[in-house]
Amino acid sequence: MCIFSFLRKFLIIFNRSFGLNQIKKILVFLFVIVSNVSFSQNVNDARKLIDTLTSPYYWGRGYTKDGMSKSANFIVKQFISCGLKPITANTFLQPFSYHANTFPGQMSLRINEKTLIPGKDFIISPESRGFQGKANLQQQDSTHYIDLANRIIVSLENKLTWSVSGEEADYTLVEVNKNSLGEMPVTVTADIDSKLVQNFKANNVCAWIKGTAKPDSVIVISAHYDHLGGMGKNTYFPGANDNASGTSLLLGLAKYYAVNPQPYTIAFICFAGEEAGLKGSRFFTQNPLIPLKNIRFLLNLDLEGTGDEGITVVNATEFSREFAYLNDANNAGNYVSKINARGKAANSDHYWFTEKGVPAFFIYTLGGIKAYHDIFDKASTLPLTEYEDLFKLIVKFNEKLIK
Ligand SMILES: [Zn+2]
Repeated sequence: MCIFSFLRKFLIIFNRSFGLNQIKKILVFLFVIVSNVSFSQNVNDARKLIDTLTSPYYWGRGYTKDGMSKSANFIVKQFISCGLKPITANTFLQPFSYHANTFPGQMSLRINEKTLIPGKDFIISPESRGFQGKANLQQQDSTHYIDLANRIIVSLENKLTWSVSGEEADYTLVEVNKNSLGEMPVTVTADIDSKLVQNFKANNVCAWIKGTAKPDSVIVISAHYDHLGGMGKNTYFPGANDNASGTSLLLGLAKYYAVNPQPYTIAFICFAGEEAGLKGSRFFTQNPLIPLKNIRFLLNLDLEGTGDEGITVVNATEFSREFAYLNDANNAGNYVSKINARGKAANSDHYWFTEKGVPAFFIYTLGGIKAYHDIFDKASTLPLTEYEDLFKLIVKFNEKLIK
């Protein structure tokens, strides 16, 4: 039940038994309780959102099984249920497209007749073309084994890290976990389907809460909701830390600001295509739904699921006044253990905004887990150590920005 319908019912019932002054006192008391409760996002609510976004239905929020568009629809529903409004007239979605090499079908691999497990024992390098058949490998160096005729390469790796490619190469590169195989590769037998999707359709999901005093001054909170998607029909990359964590933090802040409107407008953008090379944020800065000059500050949230070793702020050295606000807020509330300052970096969606002159921070958490762009970045092992503290820190930081 929304708080306003609750209050209305409350008034109708209590009007019969109490006088107006008493009702006023009770309402003030209730308001204080509600404000305190909604000041931080309950970490259990965050867990539920992260569990949902990393579940098989959303298939790694990527390129097969409609994972990305299902995720966009989920976020739209969340925005609507919070009471947020779309930035454009009647849609929360900002569509755009880009090419993506995808792996929708078969994904089986044997090396020296040993069957390897997708994601755990091997990954197919994202630019690879598919391959069906058997190849005999020649050693090139200590880690590379090649069949030139079939244009297939086996590379031995210590850590498997996947990504997204916008093109399809004229070879097949298989990265194999050195420890899983434990022997020199001699033959490779594979059945791997790939499909280059031209103009893959994606959507940024955008909403806002209009400011009460200066609606043309906008604070943007952003987080990419896409991840790598699936590799074959049975394996997907859940992307819990990257970036179900940031998406759920953004949704928590949306819920908070919907009941605590600010003098400035607070806008929320969930970007798509980040993992394919910051595609959604680039499109937004080229086709801004908010005049970029109206954005007083952008706070980009990506990798927010840990914090055991504090946080890092990209662009801290570019915007020293705002970085001082952040430190002041942290010192006053004792939220995170350490705030590291970093300079400019093209490592998430804040980048294109910075390039266009929009002041921005990218905040990411440190420590906790090692999983990154692999099948082990899952909800069950995500610690969410500093989650509630980070939420409070952001609210306090925004208060200082608006003052
Ligand atoms: Zn990310």
